[in-house]
Amino acid sequence: MKIGCHVSISGSIDKAVDNAVERECSAFQIFTRNPRGWHAKELTDEDIANFKSKLKTSKIDRLATCAHMPYLPNLATPKDEGFEKSVQTLIKEVERCAQLGIPYLVTHLGSHLGTGEEGGIKRLIKGLTKAGKTKNDVVILLENTAGQKNSVGSSFKQLGEIFNQLKPAKKFGVCFDTCHAFVAGYDLRTEEKVNETFDEFDKYVGIKNLKILHLNDAKGDIGCNLDRHYHLGLGGIGEKGITAVVKFANKRKIPIILETPIDDDRDDFKNIKKAKEFA
Ligand code: MN
Ligand code: MN
Ligand code: ZN
Repeated sequence: MKIGCHVSISGSIDKAVDNAVERECSAFQIFTRNPRGWHAKELTDEDIANFKSKLKTSKIDRLATCAHMPYLPNLATPKDEGFEKSVQTLIKEVERCAQLGIPYLVTHLGSHLGTGEEGGIKRLIKGLTKAGKTKNDVVILLENTAGQKNSVGSSFKQLGEIFNQLKPAKKFGVCFDTCHAFVAGYDLRTEEKVNETFDEFDKYVGIKNLKILHLNDAKGDIGCNLDRHYHLGLGGIGEKGITAVVKFANKRKIPIILETPIDDDRDDFKNIKKAKEFA
């Protein structure tokens, strides 16, 4: 099984690999820079060399690593300036992944800010297509969303409609977030429900396009649209459901990434251990 969590790059980007190894990860996710700002300092040759050599000496498969887009970009925004900035950031992040040898970049689909889904989806596809034209092997992964107000891509049907319009196809894939799916109304509480939910996902999006699984339990209940991640087995999805998802992903060799909280109950070490136990 390939499993790990989102790890910090604090200090320098190669520290991410140390953090992953320390947590006994066989997969991991990073932000390539501060996720809360627009600005990103260029990666130096030294940053890139250090990251790559540490990854090589670790036992972690490069193909089980991914980066996540920063928080500010909104690819569905109706504001022209914000849209341009968002697309430029996406392109930049794709290029940074290429520099680091990271194969996947996870992105959210954005918010139309109340101006309607149709326009939001049009802009989103335009922006993604532009980033898909960059000359490298990085695959942009569309992440299903929790279904917050005005957000795009919480239903598998809509996610599939968007995904199927993206070209070239080999530059795009999807990331399935269990918390987001559950709070968007897809049941994942039993093995039977997990299979039903993934059947529906397969129908619209295609399991073969699923490259990374974000394994998070949900603080809220099914359909609440609340994007609050929780410790594995202790949230709305529960132990039975999380176990079934882990087995589903393992059978298909899909890397599992945890984005679970760190608090008095558990940290990343404990959640990763739990996931291995469930498997
Ligand atoms: Mn995400
Ligand atoms: Mn996620
Ligand atoms: Zn989330």
